[in-house]
Amino acid sequence: MAERRLECDVAVVGAGPAGLSAAKAAAAAGARVVLLDPQPRPGGQVWRNDIVHGMPAPSLALQAALYASPTTALLMRSEVIAASKGVLYVRADGDGVELRHAALVLATGARELLLPFPGWTLPGVTGAGGAQALAKQGWPLRDKRVVVAGSGPLLLAAGRTLQAHGARVLAILEQAALADVGMFACGLWRWPRKALQAATIRAELWRTPYRCDSHVVRAIGEDRLRAVQVRIGGRIKTIECDQLACGFGLVPNVELAQSLGCELAYDGAHPRVVVDDWQRTSVDGVYAAGEACGIGGLDCAEVEGAIAGHVAAAMLDSARALWSRRRHARRFAAQLRQHFELQKHVRALADDDTIVCRCEDVPMSAIPVHMQAREAKLATRCGMGACQGRVCGTALAELRDIRRSGFRPPIFPVSLEVLAGFGQDDPANPFQGVER
Ligand SMILES: Cc1cc2nc3c(=O)[nH]c(=O)nc-3n(C[C@H](O)[C@H](O)[C@H](O)COP(=O)(O)OP(=O)(O)OC[C@H]3O[C@@H](n4cnc5c(N)ncnc54)[C@H](O)[C@@H]3O)c2cc1C
Repeated sequence: MAERRLECDVAVVGAGPAGLSAAKAAAAAGARVVLLDPQPRPGGQVWRNDIVHGMPAPSLALQAALYASPTTALLMRSEVIAASKGVLYVRADGDGVELRHAALVLATGARELLLPFPGWTLPGVTGAGGAQALAKQGWPLRDKRVVVAGSGPLLLAAGRTLQAHGARVLAILEQAALADVGMFACGLWRWPRKALQAATIRAELWRTPYRCDSHVVRAIGEDRLRAVQVRIGGRIKTIECDQLACGFGLVPNVELAQSLGCELAYDGAHPRVVVDDWQRTSVDGVYAAGEACGIGGLDCAEVEGAIAGHVAAAMLDSARALWSRRRHARRFAAQLRQHFELQKHVRALADDDTIVCRCEDVPMSAIPVHMQAREAKLATRCGMGACQGRVCGTALAELRDIRRSGFRPPIFPVSLEVLAGFGQDDPANPFQGVER
């Protein structure tokens, strides 16, 4: 295995809308940019390549600009597993690569919040965004009966994608109250592009009932999902279906920022990266943009990414010119938080026997109410599996307000062979001493 070392002016982690915009802005100023992402194609979550329907035009335009830039390199199938001052440790196609940089933009996006309920680990149950991602990658859905549930505008977007791939979307169940969703919809005139998008999606899904104040109670089946018990308004009902796509909103991916020592703040139970007007984090030379800094949607991610890219390349006037656009986009983020807040009863769906950590098969009853994250890990192995607590740790933060105090690299599970490939003469290398 060849050890590889690369150098650039601006390293951008994450090729979603925020990362692509940051890379484009920095490259426009002549900076040498490297953009990394584990996916085979750029686009992040919202612009994930769809093998049937392709990619949206704005994503293609951004990518074309980057591929045409002589100073930009895109490292796809590459994930950052650790970082120290000025160096990223990257697993690139099974190899270890060290990327030295002058400035770093963290655009690591968000993941779904999955809350446990009886039956949620049955085959046939996924997240709402997870189902959408699978559909775009070719998961066979023709004539499958799907229920979409959880919270937030992602439910409609997921329903549309699943329908476009041939699924019969039987119902969309939103846990937020009708009054809240109504107020959110009435305020959308301030963001005409979003209002149009919402109306278009709703029109495409005209046959599918959209119910507020509604949520999943349990998934039913023996070796796979057969039906789902739901509460619609005040009434319990059973719907026979093949798939359940259930997600309760999004939470920022902050692990890399956390391991670099960037300051975090909490929106409810979940941390986000703190940035100033220039998208600077509390660590010198490290910027952050997009959903890692709080859930704000596509427009917010794009404009924050552009500001971070301009500032990382010392183009402060170009960055300042985007501040009012960012203010407008962030107002939308505040609306999202306010109107799709989780109601108390969705935090009480799991019973004692419900598995909370599905990597290590830990039931809710094994985690007493006041247990801390570290204690839960040591006593029950909760959070020690392949997802490294991304699913169960996030759920427990929401359900029990259990917060993680730190994050030790590697950020993703990785082979010792890759770790041993990083320069053993580098004192900053967190994997110094790892042998093949
Ligand atoms: C599953 C899911 C589906 C969604 N679907 C929609 C939708 O249909 N419509 C919509 O409007 N919004 C959707 N969203 C919301 C959407 O994420 C945002 O609006 C927008 O994509 C945020 O852009 P971003 O660049 O901040 O993050 P993202 O688009 O999430 O991009 C972040 C990128 O960072 C990469 N990354 C993370 N950690 C590392 C690391 N350590 N090393 C290298 N790369 C890393 C990820 O692979 C990802 O590609 C979805 C969100 C999720 C989680």
